[in-house]
Amino acid sequence: MNDYYATLGVDRNASAEEIKKAYRKLALQYHPDKNPGNKEAEEKFKQINEAYAVLSDPEKRAHYDRYGTATPGSVGGNFGDIFDLFEQVFGFRTPGGAGRAPRGEDLEAALELELVEVLHGVQKELEYDRLVLCETCGGQGGKRQTCRSCGGRGTLEQIQRTFFGNMVTQVPCTACRGRGYTLSETCSTCKGQGRVRRRERIQINIPAGIDENQLLRVSGMGNLGPGGPGDLFVRPQIHPHPQLKREGSNLIYELRLGLAQAALGARVLIPALEGDLELSIPPGTHDGEVFELEGQGLPHPGSRSRGKLQVITQIAVPQNLSKKARELLRQYAQEVGEEVAPEGFWDKVKRVFRG
Ligand SMILES: [Zn+2]
Ligand SMILES: [Zn+2]
Repeated sequence: MNDYYATLGVDRNASAEEIKKAYRKLALQYHPDKNPGNKEAEEKFKQINEAYAVLSDPEKRAHYDRYGTATPGSVGGNFGDIFDLFEQVFGFRTPGGAGRAPRGEDLEAALELELVEVLHGVQKELEYDRLVLCETCGGQGGKRQTCRSCGGRGTLEQIQRTFFGNMVTQVPCTACRGRGYTLSETCSTCKGQGRVRRRERIQINIPAGIDENQLLRVSGMGNLGPGGPGDLFVRPQIHPHPQLKREGSNLIYELRLGLAQAALGARVLIPALEGDLELSIPPGTHDGEVFELEGQGLPHPGSRSRGKLQVITQIAVPQNLSKKARELLRQYAQEVGEEVAPEGFWDKVKRVFRG
């Protein structure tokens, strides 16, 4: 059985502060960055962290004191957990800590689409810029040499005066910004960055029914970083259709009807996405009525079924009528008993539009 107290070299009744102090000292001594390639030190580093994970938590420590084992799941076995613990105690992450190098930045690029392309889905070409490995220096940025200030560790020791006495903490080295090396010669292609801008051209499959809030992720196509490339997020930008408005999976068309069409009924053409559709408007149709054409909208995301095309009527009151049309309307008004203004009446009244 692991003796966590012996691992940290403390007494069974050591205070929380003593345990933390012992851990700080040992964790720095056996840190993988200080012992590159040393398997024994790595194993010891893991044990120290396991011991500290248990003894620094009052509940886990009480369980351990009583049963001599750690509570299941209380000890993170991988380096990710260990470095999280290390960061909690030291307030920073060590550079190059086992697989913890940061990935490159994610990128976002807009892709322009027509509404009709949303109907069936489409394959599109996208061009954008991203940072890739500089081939001149192989990503090294130039000729590297071990940092003289920190001896390649990437950290410097700093003495802090505290209530408990002087404490040695590690801070990132400012000379090399924690990288452990400086450049004796800078690569002229990438100016020491290790990566260069490149124009990429990729094919993107746009699924049917996509909308503008849906980002498409293309993994590994973002900027390159020390821990690998980030991702590319493609944002669809759908051009407004000249006649159809989109509302989710439904489409909306405003149909202008003349007075006679609304009163007598009409056969009209609706400019649907895949071509004109004939629609019969019944006699006596009001302004703002809705006619629905099922299955003529856009596909519901991830489904084969489609929304509807909603036709909303808008009745246009005729203006600038010919003399003959006015006469006919007067006859109509007489027939149905509507009282209308005499010819020329409105010329004498100032029209005021209220917005
Ligand atoms: Zn340094
Ligand atoms: Zn370079």
